[in-house]
Amino acid sequence: MKKQEDQRADASRCVHSGEEHHGQAAPLTTPIVQASVFVVPGVEGLRRYAEGDRELYLYSRYGNPTVAAAEQKIAALEGAEAAVVTSSGMAAETVASLVACRAGDQIVSMLDVYGGTVKLFEQVLPRCGIKTHFIPHHDIKNAARYFSRKTRMLFLETPTNPTLRCVDLAALAEVGHKHQACVVVDNTFASPVLQKPLELGADIVVHSATKYLGGHSDLTAGVLAGSKKWMDAARQTMILTGGCLDPGCAYLLLRGLKTLHLRVERACQNAEQIAEALRLHPKVEHVYYPGLKDHPAHELARRQMNAFGMMVSFDIRGGGRAAERFIDKLELWYLATSLGGVESTVSYPILSSHIGLSAKQLKLLGVSPSTIRLSVGVEDPGDLIADLEQALKQA
Ligand code: PLP
Repeated sequence: MKKQEDQRADASRCVHSGEEHHGQAAPLTTPIVQASVFVVPGVEGLRRYAEGDRELYLYSRYGNPTVAAAEQKIAALEGAEAAVVTSSGMAAETVASLVACRAGDQIVSMLDVYGGTVKLFEQVLPRCGIKTHFIPHHDIKNAARYFSRKTRMLFLETPTNPTLRCVDLAALAEVGHKHQACVVVDNTFASPVLQKPLELGADIVVHSATKYLGGHSDLTAGVLAGSKKWMDAARQTMILTGGCLDPGCAYLLLRGLKTLHLRVERACQNAEQIAEALRLHPKVEHVYYPGLKDHPAHELARRQMNAFGMMVSFDIRGGGRAAERFIDKLELWYLATSLGGVESTVSYPILSSHIGLSAKQLKLLGVSPSTIRLSVGVEDPGDLIADLEQALKQA
């Protein structure tokens, strides 16, 4: 990160970091460099590239100016030396796992991580000889028990999907480091505006940039951020596994990032009001939101995050039938399984992110047919609450 950026606030980093202006006719916005390959200025240029000079561009899978601008902006926001963007959040997690582990190594992961992550650890990485041990949330205090001499990566996510449980990143990073593990944190739900895992001891931060970083439900991308050493290794692995981001998509990501701070601020304010309205509603049995005083991790979230987040989940009274009726009666909230866009969306975990899980697994994760997840957008809070209330009335 440049010195000046180091001292800037996140709202300024969102707008300015990574954007370079060269010469008199320089465009104010970073252009899309829509090229798969670059002209090398002579054999001397090739030699410089081979010696590690990354000011030069050779081939877009290796590096591209529009992609690099997005990487620099995200590195500035995460307080990282460097960042690597990838074609999706899953590509970022695959790269992180392959950078931290070799065949014969083990991963310790929270059980409450994104469902795709669980499947990557259970179904794909074992084919590379990498085994994962999962920690259920109730046993997180005993995390040390899950490590062995073979553990090389600790994977954490907070707040979690959909019940917004939080874990103490600083304490768990210490446990991970005691066991020589690379500590990787999925920061998708919080965004770097609310939570900076690297400052709390993590080695690598990953994101589904498809969510808040992009912010407009129009792109699929992923991110890794961390020290130069980890990111050099991540870039090499990304290049060889092929999960690079297209420059057009990097432009959309850059554009989305410029308003990240504004969007997060507004959505957090909306979420706090929505959580409170739901808490008081007779048709709502329980609200999951770290900002509520009765949330088990309220104090931790206050310490670890700058605000309580843009996601709110709740259990509706009346079970699955009431949940289905409620969702179908919503008019302003779209039923969509993703999150993090300017539009407010609702999802039904039991039939989407958590489909196919056993009753025992669902119980461990705290998910039931009554559980509804809201991704709060930036619309008017009064309109959002009015729509929830009319749908609750009909549920
Ligand atoms: N991490 C979290 C927390 C997610 O919610 C998701 C997707 O929903 C992913 C990772 C995977 O990201 P992508 O869909 O961009 O591959």
